Amino acid sequence: MSHKKPTYKDQPQCTATSKQSGERCKQAAKLGGKVCHYHGGNAPQTVKANARRILEGLVGPALVTLQELMLDSEVPASVRYQALRDVLDRTGLKPVDKAEVLLLTDEAIAAEIARLKADQ
Ligand SMILES: [Zn+2]
Repeated sequence: MSHKKPTYKDQPQCTATSKQSGERCKQAAKLGGKVCHYHGGNAPQTVKANARRILEGLVGPALVTLQELMLDSEVPASVRYQALRDVLDRTGLKPVDKAEVLLLTDEAIAAEIARLKADQ
């Protein structure tokens, strides 16, 4: 599977209207956006919204790639294993992180030390 890399020429036309001519702007919109740099395309909130829109558009292809990696028997097992772990982690099925605490009496600790010394 291959995806065509988006180029500047693929960008839709800016949706703003020229105040001078009253005609629609002929510039290309900023990547992922609706307006050109002359019409606010470089404003921080617009750049952020454009980036968010682009990233959201990558979710589908990312999931397809993850699925392909997980199911392709020619992909190394370690890669397939990481892909399936990612799927399980992102669906709330990862193992619970927990620490086990043992409360032992002084006698039990002494007995364990004696057992370990006897094993040496
Ligand atoms: Zn424009």
